[in-house]
Amino acid sequence: MTAPAITAQSTALAELVDRSRRIGARPDLVVHGGGNTSAKTTGVDHRGRERPILLVKGSGMDLATIGPAGFVALYLDDLAAIRDRTAMTDEEQQAYLGRCTVSQGTARPSIETLLHALLPWTHVDHVHADAICALALAGDPEREVREVLGADVAFVPYVRPGFELSHRVADLADHAAVVLGHHGLVTWGATSAACLERTLSLVGRARRYLDGRARPPEQAIPALDHERAHALLLTLRGHLAEPSRVVLHVDASGRRHADRTDVDRIAGAGPATADHVLRIGRGSVILRSADEAPAEVHAAVRAAEERRRRSGGRHPLVRDPRPTAFLVPGLGTVTAGRTPREAKIVADVAEHSHTVAASAVDAFGASTGLTDEEIFGIESWPLELAKLRPPDPVRDLEAFVVVVTGAASGIGRECATVVARRGGCSVLVDVDETALRAAAEEVRSDGGEVVEVVGDVRVAATAELAVRAAIEAYGGLDGIVSNAGIAVTGRLVDLSPDDWERSLAVNATSHFLLTRAALPALAAQGRGGSLVYVVSKNALAPGAGFGAYSVAKAAQLQLARIAALEGGPLGVRANVVNPDAVFEGSRLWSPELRAARAADHGVAVEELERFYAERNLLQAPVRASDVAEAVAFLLSDRSSRTTGCILTVDGGVPAAFAR
Ligand code: ZN
Repeated sequence: MTAPAITAQSTALAELVDRSRRIGARPDLVVHGGGNTSAKTTGVDHRGRERPILLVKGSGMDLATIGPAGFVALYLDDLAAIRDRTAMTDEEQQAYLGRCTVSQGTARPSIETLLHALLPWTHVDHVHADAICALALAGDPEREVREVLGADVAFVPYVRPGFELSHRVADLADHAAVVLGHHGLVTWGATSAACLERTLSLVGRARRYLDGRARPPEQAIPALDHERAHALLLTLRGHLAEPSRVVLHVDASGRRHADRTDVDRIAGAGPATADHVLRIGRGSVILRSADEAPAEVHAAVRAAEERRRRSGGRHPLVRDPRPTAFLVPGLGTVTAGRTPREAKIVADVAEHSHTVAASAVDAFGASTGLTDEEIFGIESWPLELAKLRPPDPVRDLEAFVVVVTGAASGIGRECATVVARRGGCSVLVDVDETALRAAAEEVRSDGGEVVEVVGDVRVAATAELAVRAAIEAYGGLDGIVSNAGIAVTGRLVDLSPDDWERSLAVNATSHFLLTRAALPALAAQGRGGSLVYVVSKNALAPGAGFGAYSVAKAAQLQLARIAALEGGPLGVRANVVNPDAVFEGSRLWSPELRAARAADHGVAVEELERFYAERNLLQAPVRASDVAEAVAFLLSDRSSRTTGCILTVDGGVPAAFAR
């Protein structure tokens, strides 16, 4: 929004930003990214001519957080000429809007731009308010709108946004507002304040009317216990995993809908608007137990495929046929997405959908949703589907859920970063709370998804807590990076039994405990999994004076092989990465360890890093990122036929060649 034409009109823009944010701050007015606002003003074009300008919300912008750059400026005289046309395809309309745009910023004009442009009013609001949508679900919506909102409010039955709807609303500009069936509300005013006032008062009137008529049914369903809830989430996630993984989001507040005795009427109401169709398809699926998940998921997918088949290819169904929203009595609303953020957006939309359905059912005894044909039109509408993000091949760990131990520093911390950059979600485990919080914050600031579990990996409860955290935060588990380790030095004659035990507890037993906690979850999910053990070159080529460490690392290596043997029938792979001498960011390499290893190798402490780098075949220092890269490969489906394998990341140490 840098064009001179617009900066000259900053008052109109500032007023529009303020009004938009007030609307966006009300979750009952707009569904995620939905709704739009506009103002008409004037500006000076590139030839110095004063021209009328339309400022309208950019496509996909969120009204709650929108700033001046979220609006697009278009030449209104060019747009107004569309009023004289009799027909225009979506493609023609989009191309035309592109030519009317004043500044070529990042935002594209909203697909509802014409709705704003053709109305002769200076300020226009368009919201997808829950109460208005519910009112329009009545058996006779036109009569209901007239009686509740007033005779000067018009009603237009559902028409897809675009050329035709914009003209029909423009024809009603002598009214006070228009309710769009299965869509929302359009209001206007001579001033920004009057426009906002009308939007709020009409929505308020609809809400009060619905609340006055509401007779919600009784609810008396006990909360689902942890065990059942986890079983349900794991089974559900496992059955949603084709053709690609999803993560799940649990919204406990959804119990107010899920626990209703007539929950089937809420789910059966179907989607109330295009926003709902885009994110939750035909509506939510009711799930009462883990046992129901396979049949319910497959029935929904089969139905979607049947609709595609019936259309005879007339409308290629681009939307994913898998259901994304579930009503689980005793648990709430469970939603699926390719990322936690996407699953939360689906949850937000599902909440709106359930609220609208419940309002209509409670007020009118039934809910008249979109017809099959209308839903199909939305599901296969390119402009609507363009709001969904296409898959990104670089994110090969998308929706992959993994537990990483020893995650606060060194290799573990780097693994968390690499998993996040590839689209995965991690549960980070470490005993050092301060360092763990810092590591987690760093991954988050990079856009990654992590949760932290502070705990001692030597304790079985820590591993169980980590697996539970994965299920509760993301709906399941796909793998582990069993990495936690400590260095214990000393020749056998000098080694205390306590130090020996300490090394075994962290370097061997902790990996057993995590494996033991992860396997039942992976089995319940039924989608295999990948266990990656960060072992050490020492497991194959031990060092004198490093016995407690080398013996424990050999045990960890053998554990990985047993895990491969026992995991195979479940499709669970288990592999080993053997690094050597990774100093970067490592807490394992304490000053004491450096001194001890330098003495054993007969080199000066300050020469130690170079000594290790020069003794390998490539004569290269091994970095944490090199190890994380190998770990990511073994976690991912790219290594889907590899199990029981050792991948060395040691620069080439012949004594530690795997055999
Ligand atoms: Zn709309």
